[in-house]
Amino acid sequence: PKQFTWDHSKKTIAILGSGWAATSLIKDLDTENYNVVVVSPRNYFLFTPLLPSCTVGTVELRSIMMPMRYITRFKPRQIAFVEGGCNQIDVENKVLTVEDNSEIVGEVSSQKIPYDYLVVACGAENATFGIPGVREYSCFLKEAWDAKKIRTRLMDCLETAAFPGQVESEVDRLLHMVVVGGGPTGVEYAAELYDFLKEDLADWYPELAPKIKITLVEALPHVLPSFSKELITYTEKHFAEAKVKILSNTMVKEVKQKELIVQNPQKQIEKIPYGLLVWATGNTARQVVADLIKKLPSNLQNQRRGLVVDDYLKVKGSDNIYALGDASATKWPPTAQVASRQGHYLAATFNQLARIDADRDKLLAAGEDPSAIAGQVVKPFNYKDLGALAYIGSDKAIADLPGNVHVGGALTFWFWRSAYLSNLFSLRNRVLVAFDWAKKSLFGRDISRE
Ligand code: FAD
Ligand code: NAD
Repeated sequence: PKQFTWDHSKKTIAILGSGWAATSLIKDLDTENYNVVVVSPRNYFLFTPLLPSCTVGTVELRSIMMPMRYITRFKPRQIAFVEGGCNQIDVENKVLTVEDNSEIVGEVSSQKIPYDYLVVACGAENATFGIPGVREYSCFLKEAWDAKKIRTRLMDCLETAAFPGQVESEVDRLLHMVVVGGGPTGVEYAAELYDFLKEDLADWYPELAPKIKITLVEALPHVLPSFSKELITYTEKHFAEAKVKILSNTMVKEVKQKELIVQNPQKQIEKIPYGLLVWATGNTARQVVADLIKKLPSNLQNQRRGLVVDDYLKVKGSDNIYALGDASATKWPPTAQVASRQGHYLAATFNQLARIDADRDKLLAAGEDPSAIAGQVVKPFNYKDLGALAYIGSDKAIADLPGNVHVGGALTFWFWRSAYLSNLFSLRNRVLVAFDWAKKSLFGRDISRE
């Protein structure tokens, strides 16, 4: 690969993020046409659909991570990668401020990066709705370090409950695993936890296992609000059989260190003691996105969840900023499927813009009229949903597919597995995940506390 060199005759695209949207954009972008700089606080892509499996060790974290430098290195012209978070966007002067917010920082930990085009693909953060105690006492499930923290705390709860002479009420609390939010993240995590309990913990902790309880708290009447009615009923029935308790119509009001304060369906306040709490109530805009929204015309940017874009994914109120994936507020759901399709689309747009510019320059150099190329317009973004899949435990999955097909069960689980395996970005990741599944079937999950 050629080394990265800043070519001043070319325009610079700055991309924020190394997630689904940014990675698909980088994969398809023709880097001969632009200087490209990628900024992200993590130097890897994370395959989020298998993240719930990493909380209990069904799959190992490194199997679903791919270094960004692996992607940037094999482009015809190398891309610059900066590990840091963008915390400020100067829209007028077209300059980003990037901070190295990792553990080890050198003499220089802040840098300004100029751009011609900016692509905001930095995703979203976990919504807490300002509920007191959520950030202090619960675990989120969005990033690799969240899954690691959950796995460690889960084993800590078990070993603390097994400590000689532990008080009975404390054992019950420590073994109460609570999940808040019955969206796909909360459901898939509860499902993995149940599998771990049934397949491994029951053998390793025979005295404690019968006391382990899993509870899912959901504010609405049912879990999985975005799935079809049949699959919601199927999942709720499956959870009831597995003794995963769903507390629906229950709103969390406050989180304390050892208990949750909720409002039950009868509008009474209740206390729920817990050992491990996972908070999965959806997305809200990141600070850098919220700040950018404030800098743009308020009549065009009126969504709190992200940047409003036009049909070409250009941020409304700007002529050189694009937003993709969870950082944007569109009519499409905040999913990996949408984010990656948007990334591919924007790469095609940039590639076409470069071709149009090159044709125009050629015509001008030959003294001809460049108006003929005005017809080479870029098409608006178009999205066709391929359906939704979710794992619900005990080797069962559910799938809402196009054409009104709603299926659930063991066959769907194999479809779920093969769909995710083929969607993993590299052969290396596919092999690692397949090995993890085989390893789990042969030897069970590892119960060491990291
Ligand atoms: P992300 O993938 O979140 O990437 C954001 C990137 O921006 C990250 O690299 C981050 O480090 C970086 N970043 C953060 N802050 C900054 C900053 N200040 N400056 C620069 N960069 C920054 N969707 C599906 O379609 N199917 C599924 O099965 C599925 N399963 C999921 C399971 C879980 C547990 C979760 C949490 C989500 C799941 N999703 C799934 C949703 C999907 O992961 C998201 O919609 C998708 O990740 C959005 O892509 P994105 O590129 O917009 O953001
Ligand atoms: P979500 O927004 O889909 O669901 C959050 C749930 O939390 C909702 O059901 C909501 O009613 C509930 N909630 C909100 N506040 C609450 C409170 N105070 N107390 C109790 N419940 C409360 O969030 P998610 O599950 O994190 O998913 C985020 C996005 O990622 C979605 O677009 C989802 O489709 C996608 N995703 C997809 C998959 C999959 O396809 N398998 C897996 C995970 C995530």
